[in-house]
Amino acid sequence: RKGTAVITGASSGLGLATAKALADTGKWHVIMACRNFLKAERAARSVGMSKEDYTVMHLDLASLESVKQFVDNFRRTEQPLDVLVCNAAVYQPTAKEPSFTAEGFELSVGTNHLGHFLLSRLLLDDLKKSDYPSKRMIIVGSITGNTNTLAGNVPPKANLGDLRGLASGLNGQNSSMIDGGDFDGAKAYKDSKVCNMLTMQELHRRYHEETGVTFASLYPGCIATTGLFREHIPLFRLLFPPFQKYITKGYVSEEEAGKRLAQVVSDPSLGKSGVYWSWNNNSSSFENQLSKEASDAEKAKKLWEVSEKLVGLA
Ligand code: NDP
Repeated sequence: RKGTAVITGASSGLGLATAKALADTGKWHVIMACRNFLKAERAARSVGMSKEDYTVMHLDLASLESVKQFVDNFRRTEQPLDVLVCNAAVYQPTAKEPSFTAEGFELSVGTNHLGHFLLSRLLLDDLKKSDYPSKRMIIVGSITGNTNTLAGNVPPKANLGDLRGLASGLNGQNSSMIDGGDFDGAKAYKDSKVCNMLTMQELHRRYHEETGVTFASLYPGCIATTGLFREHIPLFRLLFPPFQKYITKGYVSEEEAGKRLAQVVSDPSLGKSGVYWSWNNNSSSFENQLSKEASDAEKAKKLWEVSEKLVGLA
């Protein structure tokens, strides 16, 4: 049978390119879990995916109710779940004030981390039930959360501190930042990516042996053309792609990045659990090192426990 992969945020950028790459193999049915139904449907058609290779289902990660609703709707289709890809993200580098999810969490961490945290916890049960030979859960990470890299050292740097802001609800009353500091949209995004990478490792430690599920994260390269940078100033959007192409040489096309993520979904040689994958300039994959904070097991455990409380699992 075909494998079934759920991809969040498959309506543009990396998620769409991955959906397309998987559909093109003829071996996958992709559930495009998206907040904008019409946009997702149009996106799938624009890249030439055929009807039988995908289903669009509504998911707004900025609402925990919507996450639960999505899980119910997915279960009602009675399809197996073989791979979950947590890909969607918001980035608000120029926001002066925080905005908030339906439950009142700062939007970047609320969407990128807490929405995916609840989704992955609920869907783990479905993954366990699948009889697919290589079941995987992938959470897209980023170099920007890794302070052991050049890109990760561009201020403001990611830093979760002692999680005091998250523990106090991340609702703007005490703080809207995980470390309890003043709001900074670029930092909130980087912090959320550190959470994604910590969550992947904590899932691996807690569930890999018991379930056989492969947990992985990745940095697909700098996909400087995606919608992620839509809220950045126009000059940045103009100069960022050529800067990445010719100066840092970290640039990767959406198509190439989609192929990389599709490898993490289905390539037998990328089946190891607990790994953060990256690619060399010649497009060969390797197991990359995470920064001290993004691989801190104690912080991962604490993040897990605080997140469970916020999303109502504890
Ligand atoms: P895009 O902005 O193109 O894609 C993000 C996707 O997330 C869109 O489909 C968007 O939906 C969706 N999304 C945003 N908010 C929500 C929500 N509340 N509920 C459901 N879906 C939502 O960016 P990219 O493709 O670049 O980003 C994809 C992933 O890649 C992210 O995890 C990002 O952190 C990561 N990444 C990107 C890099 C890059 O250089 N671009 C580098 C490293 C990592 P909609 O279409 O409706 O807006």
